[in-house]
Amino acid sequence: MRAKLRLLPNVRHRVLYGHPWVFANEVESAEGAYSAGDIVEVRDRRNGFVGLGYINPESAILVRILTRDDREVDEAFIRERVGSAVDYRKALFGLAGSIAESPGGFRLVHSEADFLPGLIVDVFAGYVSLQTLTLGIDRWKETIVEALRDFVSPKGVYERNDAPVRELEGLSRKAGYIGEPFDPLVEIDENGVRMLVDVQKGQKTGYFLDQSDNRLRLRALAPSKDVLDAFSYSGGFGLSAAYAGARSVLCVDASDAALDLARASAGRNGLSDRVSCRAANVFDLLREYERDGTRFDAVVLDPPAFARSRRMLEKALAGYKEINLRAMKVLREGGFLCTSSCSQHVTATEFDAILEEAAFDSRKSLRILERRGQRADHPILAGVPETDYLKFRMCQVSRLS
Ligand code: SAH
Repeated sequence: MRAKLRLLPNVRHRVLYGHPWVFANEVESAEGAYSAGDIVEVRDRRNGFVGLGYINPESAILVRILTRDDREVDEAFIRERVGSAVDYRKALFGLAGSIAESPGGFRLVHSEADFLPGLIVDVFAGYVSLQTLTLGIDRWKETIVEALRDFVSPKGVYERNDAPVRELEGLSRKAGYIGEPFDPLVEIDENGVRMLVDVQKGQKTGYFLDQSDNRLRLRALAPSKDVLDAFSYSGGFGLSAAYAGARSVLCVDASDAALDLARASAGRNGLSDRVSCRAANVFDLLREYERDGTRFDAVVLDPPAFARSRRMLEKALAGYKEINLRAMKVLREGGFLCTSSCSQHVTATEFDAILEEAAFDSRKSLRILERRGQRADHPILAGVPETDYLKFRMCQVSRLS
């Protein structure tokens, strides 16, 4: 028998109309026994069926709904969900044959937005890098890997379950090959650029695929320009700009390991003469450049999520404002600012307001040329604002005239 959880009346709407998260303080009563990770039934106050989800009393999110149908959540169910996530990417990228044959990088499963909360699956030139970040989804890991083997025929599978968020679920942190080991340094083709992805030691699953289309967009502005790629990680934006004919590219990141990857990838593309790397704190470096007069035609800002919770918001907004303000100051007249925020807690409106303030304070005129978000293999689920996390703005900065 599945345990039944009764919702308080005030949360009926949010959970009923698409949002998969049920918090502990939204539950009126529980009936029946369950252990962490089990599938439970969520019911409304009048005992109407709402959905089935997995429960974890250790997590801030008590239940994550998996389905609104009253059906068995079993291996077949999980397989079906993985299958539809894969089918969608095949359609999106026009991959007729096996995904594993493609030299590209794709997000195959994007957690809540693919109706598999807690599961992230990326594929890099046929190698799968995955994360099961919640207890409820971790239980299905074998089934998920088996389904991926059937639907994708990966050349290898690596589990990146060393993410700190696992601890919030009472899960241990671990990483390693599932099945046969392989060389963890994988080369993908991203819109013609050869990018090295380290699935073992790289950040998150190894590479940030969500910015792929935005890197492509930067190319239009890049020819003959001096470009600063700030918070470059392995150089995704910078190498894209160099590939498109930038005169010079400087990749800046706090991580030496990330810059080693950027250098190696630059070499593989024959771009080493125009790409340089510098390990530094972007905040300090922008201040230094402002003082010493170093200027650029285009600046890319892609910092990590400054706000990891709504409580950290104010400090985060101050951080975003500071780097954007300083970036505006190191741009030549009419230069381009490509700026992002990947904090789910910072709304698009808040981010745009920050840019406006930064322009005002630096006495610049800011034109927003394009508002963009994450690539479509990271879908946005309506009613679930957490899935609409990436803000990318292509702007032009000039003097007030
Ligand atoms: N632009 C990258 C992704 C950036 S992720 C891409 O296209 O793939 C954010 C990066 O910021 C990480 O590589 C992290 O090492 C770096 N970072 C975090 N804080 C930093 C700081 N204060 N100064 C410089 N780099 C920083």
